[in-house]
Amino acid sequence: MTKYRTVHGGTLRASDIGNEVTLAGWVAKRRDHGGVIFVDLRDASGVVQVVLNPENVPAPEETLRSLRNEFCVMVTGVVRERPVENKNPELATGEVEVGVSSLDVLSTADVLPFQVDERFEADEARRLQYRYLDLRRDRMAANLRARSTAIRAMRRVLDERDFLEVETPTLVVSTPEGARDMLVPSRLRPGQFYALPQSPQLFKQLLMVAGVERYYQIARCYRDEDFRSDRQVEFTQLDLEGSFWDQDDVLETLEAIAAQVVKDVRGTDLPRPIPRMSYAEAMARYGTDKPDVRFGMEIVDLGSVFTGTEFRAFAGTLAAGGAVRAINAGNQGLSRAGFDKLVEEAQGLGAKGLVWMVGEEDGSLRSPVAKFLSDDELSGVTAAMGVEPGDAVLIVADEVEVVGSVLGDLRLQLGQPDNHDDLEFLFIVDFPVFERAPDGGLAPAHHPFTAPLSVEEMRSSPETAISRSYDMVLNGAELGSGSVRIHDPEVQAQVFEVLGISAEQAESRFGWFLEALRYGTPPHAGFAIGVDRLVSILQNEQNIREVMPFPKTQTGADPLTGAPGVVEDGQLDELGIDVKPEVRAGWSEGN
Ligand code: ASP
Repeated sequence: MTKYRTVHGGTLRASDIGNEVTLAGWVAKRRDHGGVIFVDLRDASGVVQVVLNPENVPAPEETLRSLRNEFCVMVTGVVRERPVENKNPELATGEVEVGVSSLDVLSTADVLPFQVDERFEADEARRLQYRYLDLRRDRMAANLRARSTAIRAMRRVLDERDFLEVETPTLVVSTPEGARDMLVPSRLRPGQFYALPQSPQLFKQLLMVAGVERYYQIARCYRDEDFRSDRQVEFTQLDLEGSFWDQDDVLETLEAIAAQVVKDVRGTDLPRPIPRMSYAEAMARYGTDKPDVRFGMEIVDLGSVFTGTEFRAFAGTLAAGGAVRAINAGNQGLSRAGFDKLVEEAQGLGAKGLVWMVGEEDGSLRSPVAKFLSDDELSGVTAAMGVEPGDAVLIVADEVEVVGSVLGDLRLQLGQPDNHDDLEFLFIVDFPVFERAPDGGLAPAHHPFTAPLSVEEMRSSPETAISRSYDMVLNGAELGSGSVRIHDPEVQAQVFEVLGISAEQAESRFGWFLEALRYGTPPHAGFAIGVDRLVSILQNEQNIREVMPFPKTQTGADPLTGAPGVVEDGQLDELGIDVKPEVRAGWSEGN
């Protein structure tokens, strides 16, 4: 195959017995009890046992005995059947071993900061600092391979459909996509900054104006957000856009991509079509716009059970336009103290309180508030919630949004499976155009280039108007979003107006984009899938860092290279940048 190997060791099987092979790889494990030396030799394809008998290998015996884990070696020998007692059915190569006749040590390895062998835990900071060793671990190597397989599947589907892969710049002007921009100072224009793209949104729309019709890109995106387990400052999207397209065209393409990726990474067939659910339905049934539909425990409205109730907490909430809703959390085996803790948690999540009820053997309900409720109300709850003995019903009475978010969170906490063996994809459609920003004003629910379903409705009732945007959800995680875009500059201006962006502001910030819309823009629509999140779920990883080759820590640092780092004063001078003395003082403290 190459001068270093004739075959990958991990591929050797009983059918190779008798062949002379040359292998190259790393010492994954060695057993040396003074006689014959057994080495597990690892390469990108897996491991195979090689046996070094000092009598058969011409190298000096001390070279053989000095082999340590992670030395990089090349061996030649004959594949033979392992003695019966040494066969290892757990291992793909477990029937064979290689009797070595020559050994070359290609590189030695220093004392390792942690064992590559996965059975030894290593803390994450260490793993990131020595990522190149961490990536030698089976799990990480498998994650890298899965990522590559997923991206290849995406490219294949899109290439077959005549998409053009187009790169867009990463030094761009700041555009409003909801997050904080990462900025890059310009040397040639001191005091001015590029932004790194939060996504290629406006460029892909320009490509539609440019007549590209079908675009995609494996795009690196940057958002300067505070870290959460599923966020990183830089991440990868499969970004795509099509002209003369409507929502169905986008969703059909996404479905084809999802099916191919699942097939190639998991080897399974994705049931199609991927179900669709409206935003309103998702919020009502699951209290979230990214429901995990692998389990039930749905939110049930108890408003009709409690109309006319004398229980003041419920009556007051309903009279004020709020909601009384519940989940049947099943048999959680909770003690009184366990329920008290749940009540505290619900309060921590923003609810005024939580009412719990437990189904008794005789069909009645046990609850601290049972004495305030009529028999009809109690049996109404039993019927509406399908209560079986032992089931815990959790009721929240509050403003509609609070009820949804609290029950939605409790539902996940009490019911969500902690693995991703099953995959439930879902499209959420009919999102609102706007949402309330923290400052009380309106903000785009997706981004301001998303088409409203009806311009009239957007103007007359912006609070409730529906947009032509959609999300893809997998196992309760948002994989990505997209929308049908505004292709009429008039409509775009009206959206800015409703958002409180004046014509002058719009002109000064996006004049270049608004102008482009005036040159015969085709109707277009698109989407972006978060590659990191998709691969992490497919690989059953809880954190996207595990599927990123060189991720950053929670504080945006790279322990391997030391980024972000301090630069020379001369570089700052060229950029016309002064670092405040108090910030400089912090440097010496390691900030
Ligand atoms: N640019 C959008 C995002 O990153 C996706 C899209 O609308 O295509 O969420």
